[in-house]
Amino acid sequence: MNAPTLQPQPATAGTTAYANIVDGRRVPAADGRTLDSVCPSDGAVFATMPRSGRADVDAAVAAARVAFETGPWGRLTATERGRLLVRLGEAVAARVDELGALEAQDTGKPLSQGRADMVAAARYFEFYGTAADKLHGETIPFLNGYTVAVTREPHGVTAHIVPWNYPAQIFGRSVGASLACGNACVVKPAEDACLSLLRFAELALEVGFPPGALNVVTGLGEEAGAALASHSGIDFISFTGSPEVGTLIQTAAARNHIGCTLELGGKSPQIVVADADLDAATPVLVRAIVQNGGQTCSAGSRVLIERSAYDRVAGLVAERFAQVRVGHHLMDLDLGAMINAGQKARVEGFVAHARADGLPMLAEGRLAPDLPAGGFYVKPSLFGPVPRGNDLAQEEVFGPVLSLMPFDDEADAVRLANGTPYGLVAGVWTADARRSMRVARAMRCGQVFVNGYGAGGGIELPFGGVKKSGHGREKGFEALYEFSASRTIVINHG
Ligand code: NAD
Repeated sequence: MNAPTLQPQPATAGTTAYANIVDGRRVPAADGRTLDSVCPSDGAVFATMPRSGRADVDAAVAAARVAFETGPWGRLTATERGRLLVRLGEAVAARVDELGALEAQDTGKPLSQGRADMVAAARYFEFYGTAADKLHGETIPFLNGYTVAVTREPHGVTAHIVPWNYPAQIFGRSVGASLACGNACVVKPAEDACLSLLRFAELALEVGFPPGALNVVTGLGEEAGAALASHSGIDFISFTGSPEVGTLIQTAAARNHIGCTLELGGKSPQIVVADADLDAATPVLVRAIVQNGGQTCSAGSRVLIERSAYDRVAGLVAERFAQVRVGHHLMDLDLGAMINAGQKARVEGFVAHARADGLPMLAEGRLAPDLPAGGFYVKPSLFGPVPRGNDLAQEEVFGPVLSLMPFDDEADAVRLANGTPYGLVAGVWTADARRSMRVARAMRCGQVFVNGYGAGGGIELPFGGVKKSGHGREKGFEALYEFSASRTIVINHG
């Protein structure tokens, strides 16, 4: 099997044509249709990708099935699979600048964020590569004369439906864990951000992954995505995206009687107690909503402040917020453009509603001068105090809009923090260790940070939600339990 040509081919003048990776080959959509890749920083088309349909998804699922059941992939030992993943991590790490620049162009995120995403993706491949042969089963004491072994088995063919906000990281965490377990994967990236994932699949072939182990088909959610989610040839779905599409995915999984993980949205709170170290907290409070333009599932979009400290904290946050700068991804400022025109309009709609509701705007970020007219830029905005029932207190904006809200006491803070339909991540800032542990234990969500928020990419840390934020856990060693199932073998040797 020859590896495909690594560099994509020129399409029409000024654009580059990317291809699906199916069964170890670069292939266009069966019917030849394509979609445009638009750079959010200027609105210009710079690449094309296949607009895959059912036939393309069928081919990818069939290739994965063969790889899993009869191909070389299915015969590799856990150690051999792990080595391939480590090599993939090294290949990505060696191309952080190239891939980071591609990601920045494809998503509008600042260059340094594009590079950071590649560093994290490489680390996921390394983490799961070195974990592949550490996923042990167990034995269970049973009747005399019996031995009971519980092994961990791959599901078979896993489907991965990926959003556009952190494609590289989300691919790394879910595909890395799934391949480590021995599954064969079919990935459907988001139509707005596919390119780095096609490059990952090419690099996987370069470093020696057998054909069919890792297939990537691009296309629209309602076409390729729906065809993949409902395919009778898949055994498990890993979905990261919006709660609305998550419902469709879970319904499709139920029809095929297979499992799924749903990593959905959030309205994550950071609780600031009056005794908190505000010098440490303030930059983190701002960064938690500004990073990636607020297009982060775990964005800290609500800051809950003990009433006695409200004015002081609001002043510090507003001062810092007003310094936030928005620019073209090549300018590498605090944030770039929104992913597309629809997302820009969504954010602007929330801001317009908040203004119409009379919410005080405490600060706005600044747009760099002379930005391209076609770019999808919005000004970050800070509102407070935001009433508890307001949209900005309850709904995921998925943009750089931060809500400040006062609370009265610890019980009120917990009620407020848990008082949305979501439950993904929370933060607690306090000098009181006992209080921090009490509050952390009272949060209804998958991750809690104390005196910090987000750290080191979170590769090693189990991650996932409750309620409308989804179910199942990815990241860390725990993901290996999602992408495998136990098999109990009972041996009567008495
Ligand atoms: P989205 O749900 O619109 O799309 C996600 C993926 O689903 C894309 O690949 C899309 O093509 C596909 N899709 C769309 N319709 C489909 C259908 N009918 N059938 C099958 N697939 C379909 O989400 P998005 O706008 O790309 O991402 C933003 C959302 O993702 C936010 O709510 C954000 O919070 C969430 N998110 C969650 C996490 C997490 O780990 N919890 C991480 C990142 C993003």
